Amino acid sequence: MANPHAVRLDRAREQLSERGVDALLLGPSADLVYLTGYHAPPLERLTMLVLPAKGEPRLVVPRLEAPLARGHLGDLEVEVVAWDETEDPVELVRATLGDAGAVSLQPDSRAADGRLGVGDRLWSTFLLRLQAALPGADFTVASAVTRALRMVKDAAEVEALAAAAAAIDQVVDGLAGLRWAGRSEQEVARELDEAIRAAGHDETCFVIVGSGPNGASPHHAAGPRVIEPGDAVVVDIGGRRAGYCSDTTRTLVVGEPPPGFVELYQVLQAAQEAGCQAVAPGVPAAAVDAACRDLITGAGYGAHFVHRTGHGIGLEEHEDPYVVAGNDEPLVAGTAFSVEPGIYLEGRYGARIEDIVICTDDGARRLNTTSRDLLVVTG
Ligand code: ZN
Ligand code: ZN
Ligand code: ZN
Repeated sequence: MANPHAVRLDRAREQLSERGVDALLLGPSADLVYLTGYHAPPLERLTMLVLPAKGEPRLVVPRLEAPLARGHLGDLEVEVVAWDETEDPVELVRATLGDAGAVSLQPDSRAADGRLGVGDRLWSTFLLRLQAALPGADFTVASAVTRALRMVKDAAEVEALAAAAAAIDQVVDGLAGLRWAGRSEQEVARELDEAIRAAGHDETCFVIVGSGPNGASPHHAAGPRVIEPGDAVVVDIGGRRAGYCSDTTRTLVVGEPPPGFVELYQVLQAAQEAGCQAVAPGVPAAAVDAACRDLITGAGYGAHFVHRTGHGIGLEEHEDPYVVAGNDEPLVAGTAFSVEPGIYLEGRYGARIEDIVICTDDGARRLNTTSRDLLVVTG
């Protein structure tokens, strides 16, 4: 079987040619992991994959990290070029680009220099040096080339996302058995952090426990507030397992729901369902957002749904495609993203329901399968 990273490198080179980009320059990033399998330490010494449209890929790494890089690359055909502490790694990048014909190494023939796709998350300390060393080059973001590849998950990636989702669902299944009333959000969050790792994640990425009025702040993390009977609590948790992310939200109430909450939750649950039902190949991402939003707006909560409906997920928690008004790009089979509408009443409470779905020829395949009914915990 072909090395899966070799297949991805070939496809990236095709994209480079198609999009008129002469080379990709990637530092430590999800793009680098996707294309080579190398989890590079994001440090002050330059690590950079140079992938020319024509020519062989080279990985420029600090000498001390060369063994690490070779280990991660395995049998992938990428030449590792190690630089010594006294060398200028940007010169090695420039020389590699010159060998591949992507830039001219003649100082006076700037017109010949090409278009370079630089990693979206590359630190400015490196980009500014590259720009100074390659004054004739035209820089663009690497995602112009990599997003189309990374957005459509292959079978192994779908499996990895499903395994991560199953692990986080195991944590959700344990929510009813936790003690809520009388404990701070932070105490509960610490317990969830452990449960996320115990369920098979390699790391916890985030734990949101938003109780009572804190639930109305969508990205509230977890604070000292003590959870009380009668609180609604938004629990949004995620981790990383074998490189791929999980992300799910459920909302629960401790004992008797606060006034108006059950009605609000019914609207939200119907909206989340409508969003999932709208998913199909060829449907614009914006239409999934509209399916959720129209129901919420119709019920009078439009102004309280203050974020987009969802985000893509994979090696990163948030990646393309974004499920948001204005994104008219059609979904294709294999895209993975969240459907996570929320309704937030400032000063009172909030609610959100989130599943990760895969767009398939038969519509949305939900990777998160725990109950979406309002969870009532007793204490
Ligand atoms: Zn978020
Ligand atoms: Zn989430
Ligand atoms: Zn999310």
